[in-house]
Amino acid sequence: MSGFPEFIYRDNELFVESVPLKQIADEFGTPCYIYSRSALTKAYQEFDSSFASRDHLICYAVKANSNIAILNLFAQLGSGFDIVSGGELLRVIKAGGDPGKTVFSGVGKNVNEMRMALDANILCFNVESEAELLALNQIAEDMDKIAPVSLRVNPDVDAKTHPYISTGLKENKFGIPTSEAERIYKSAHRYAHIRFTGLDCHIGSQLTDLEPFMQAGNKMLDLLNKLQSQGLEIEHLDLGGGLGIRYANETPPTIKEYVSALCAKTHQIKQRLLIEPGRSLVGNSGILLTRVEYLKHTPARNFAIVDAAMNDLMRPALYDAYHEILPVTENNGECKNYQIVGPVCETGDFLGHDRRLSLAHGNLLAIMSAGAYGMSMSSNYNTRPRAAEVMIDKSTVHIIRQRETIDQLIATEQVLP
Ligand SMILES: *Cc1c(COP(=O)(O)O)cnc(C)c1O
Repeated sequence: MSGFPEFIYRDNELFVESVPLKQIADEFGTPCYIYSRSALTKAYQEFDSSFASRDHLICYAVKANSNIAILNLFAQLGSGFDIVSGGELLRVIKAGGDPGKTVFSGVGKNVNEMRMALDANILCFNVESEAELLALNQIAEDMDKIAPVSLRVNPDVDAKTHPYISTGLKENKFGIPTSEAERIYKSAHRYAHIRFTGLDCHIGSQLTDLEPFMQAGNKMLDLLNKLQSQGLEIEHLDLGGGLGIRYANETPPTIKEYVSALCAKTHQIKQRLLIEPGRSLVGNSGILLTRVEYLKHTPARNFAIVDAAMNDLMRPALYDAYHEILPVTENNGECKNYQIVGPVCETGDFLGHDRRLSLAHGNLLAIMSAGAYGMSMSSNYNTRPRAAEVMIDKSTVHIIRQRETIDQLIATEQVLP
């Protein structure tokens, strides 16, 4: 058993849906990101069906994995999108996503990005400071438009996650303190080209407990009540993303438990509910396939040097994150304690520490739970072309991103005349 329903062993060979991973390595090479259409679809449908009859919109957080095939799949299922740049907006549009179902988050939206989003008539700007609100009001005035806005409130709750991905504490750069947000909403008349349509928060990522979501929900409901008693018409409440997934031994709530808790918490209000899940939609729907290049046994350690590296999957180096690593072909050979490392010239370049595996040169390994913040955080460090991406649909393999070439990588550079 692999513990991932779409990634299963048959006769000691690891498959994605009906395709052996070995076949994908032969055809497309390694390193290669591989996604399961079935897993992506099931995750989206679990979110959607858990809302039942509640008025809602799921806005997939594009930054978790922005491949246009994945965006297109979610768009076809009815999803909206949460974007954090003009580039992500163009991806959504190119993928057939609906800008009218798209919200724009982020602390540093620039003038061009605001223009693009106003032009595209997005659903809402999630505004993170008064300075940003003033800038947006001016740009909307220049374009003779009205910008729909939610203020992103910083509810000051501890998400109890890795400090780099905790965003809802008062020390974080994100959002506007609750009391200040209240003041800004009440001064709505001062912004002739802004229409306050919603209220928003996002407290962090990889949350494995419902409690912080409930605390944030309480603070949002308090503020919503205050604004409504002042006669402000708020149309939607956006509770952000952040639901965690199982990488190792975590026991996050299921999607259904999470959505049901949000619906129960907000049952007295009539506003449409928005959420912005990223990781929980794609994380366990994808893997990174890599090949063992060399085994190196030193007096202190056993190293397996593989052809994927920190530039392909940054999470271990960045957050000391754990990813399960499975052999593509199971064997009964003697296991050793391996450090799984890449070819990049950094000691931080590792994919896993102390994994008990039986390995030989040329073996394939599957780095599990790599669908979120994998490819989308990848880089060209060490002049390494980025990996190919494929999506499996039952027994069909679709290439959704060609492996980058070195020529493409240096095409925009030039030497002095
Ligand atoms: C990153 C992010 C998300 C998605 O977070 P996940 O943990 O991947 O669900 C949602 N909303 C905002 C504003 C974000 O920055």
